[in-house]
Amino acid sequence: MRYVIEDRRYRFRSAFDMETGAYVRTGILDDEGHDTGVDPFMASFPHLIDVGVMGSCAHGKTGLCVRAGIGCYQSGLTVEQPDMSVEDFRWICEQCSRRCNQLALGGRGDPDQHAHFEELLRISRENLLVPNFTTSGYGLTPELAALCGRYCGAVAVSWYRSPYTLAAIQMLLGAGVRANVHYVLGNNSIDEALERLEHDDFPEGINAVIFLLHKPAGQGSAGNVLTVDDPRVAAFFAQVDRPHRFKVGMDSCCVPGAVNHCANIAPESLDTCEGGRFSCYVGPDLVMAPCSFDQRRRYGVQLGEDMDIARAWNSEPFEAFRAHLRGACPTCAQRDACMGGCPLMPEVVLCDRLERMGLTKKDVCYERNV
Ligand code: SF4
Ligand code: SF4
Repeated sequence: MRYVIEDRRYRFRSAFDMETGAYVRTGILDDEGHDTGVDPFMASFPHLIDVGVMGSCAHGKTGLCVRAGIGCYQSGLTVEQPDMSVEDFRWICEQCSRRCNQLALGGRGDPDQHAHFEELLRISRENLLVPNFTTSGYGLTPELAALCGRYCGAVAVSWYRSPYTLAAIQMLLGAGVRANVHYVLGNNSIDEALERLEHDDFPEGINAVIFLLHKPAGQGSAGNVLTVDDPRVAAFFAQVDRPHRFKVGMDSCCVPGAVNHCANIAPESLDTCEGGRFSCYVGPDLVMAPCSFDQRRRYGVQLGEDMDIARAWNSEPFEAFRAHLRGACPTCAQRDACMGGCPLMPEVVLCDRLERMGLTKKDVCYERNV
């Protein structure tokens, strides 16, 4: 099934195919309904919501992610909250029906370990929302994989480099699920990424490998952040820029690196940070934020009886977050595609253009001549 959302406030249309996950947006439409070719900055309601259904991580205590070299950005080792209740999840879904396309189930643990996993998937579909999620695969069973095949659009397995990683991918593929690999790209993992991309060395049958930029949030360390002057970063984007036997994607946090290093990626396939523009996060405690990496809830809004998703979307904290994207790097030729990168963590932005500091080459020459 396909459906179209008509955004009257921001004057554009988007279409979503619930079977394939294909999603397209028009540019801003003029008074005659013609596409002006200018991308809308935001939607009047999020098209994708990251729903943190998990409040705690059973595997976190066993150090699963630490052994895999991953620093949990949700601090799953030390923070515990109750998982999201079915009632709260239903309340979210009912508000989203026909206004939002997909839910990315997540939070502080594997969503497939939620006590009411099947019910969450069912409620999601009942409200015309395609559920997707990422898992370590550690607790995945053939029964859970079959549920994914029945309800989910795609399931990603985090690249934890373990026998259970490969077993989970096989289980999902066996159940007919579109399976992706999610690969956290940091200082400690970029060499392996280069090697694997060079040799197309990811499991047969996967749909895509998606690279997620490591960020210093939660237990993610500052020392693992990649820097723009690291030659491996340019080598990585050169690999992304060439064809592979599987699709290669990246999170929107990588977009500054892509616009600076990739020549072959179609610009229309790049979507820079969509936080607060087309997506947001709702945690198990019903705090809504523009992005799940806003772990300190600098832009968080507590949902409840007097604060629904639409109201939080139009709230002052969300506007403050958007202001970073609206105003960043005004002189850069890539501004529309990149918007200055991450508003939360400037240190992850893979760009050293002068325009990031509000300068141009002319300014620098002038300074030198003075
Ligand atoms: S200067 Fe700003 S907008 Fe331009 S590529 Fe760098 S981060 Fe992106
Ligand atoms: S706010 Fe930062 S971490 Fe979140 S999606 Fe945007 S770029 Fe990525």
